[in-house]
Amino acid sequence: MEHFSAKGFTPGQAKIKLVLDDKRIAAACVGRGDITHLKQNVAAVLDKTELTQLDREVFKNYAAQTCSGYCAGCANICDSVAADIPVSDVMRYLMYYNSFGDTQTARQLFAEIPQQIRDKMLTVDYAAAESRCPQRLPIARFVNQAVRTLA
Ligand code: SF4
Repeated sequence: MEHFSAKGFTPGQAKIKLVLDDKRIAAACVGRGDITHLKQNVAAVLDKTELTQLDREVFKNYAAQTCSGYCAGCANICDSVAADIPVSDVMRYLMYYNSFGDTQTARQLFAEIPQQIRDKMLTVDYAAAESRCPQRLPIARFVNQAVRTLA
């Protein structure tokens, strides 16, 4: 992402510009952070700088390098492990924690899961979901991490 820093964009601003550069997309629902974050997002939307072919190539390479850790949120797979365990939600809370740095929201949402469900999470076998996961994510390991860090 240094490529975009050199052009004066934060990584978040560069991503917003790429999304809005795609003519198939009419709107982008972006970040929820503080007022600085909001101002950066608005500035990116209002900025008239056109992305170059090189910019798009840089993004394409970045996506190829980082997509393996991306959780697609396919609840039909993850939530089939046990009817009462919202695994896909827990994966999303971990994304807030690990990728967005929004530890407070992650912990608040995790705390809304009833205690008996949280206790049960570490006793479930996630192998079936892991074998169907399109991203081949280690779901059991992530759930373990959630229970340890978000509780
Ligand atoms: S199956 Fe994989 S990609 Fe889909 S929600 Fe579960 S962990 Fe995420």
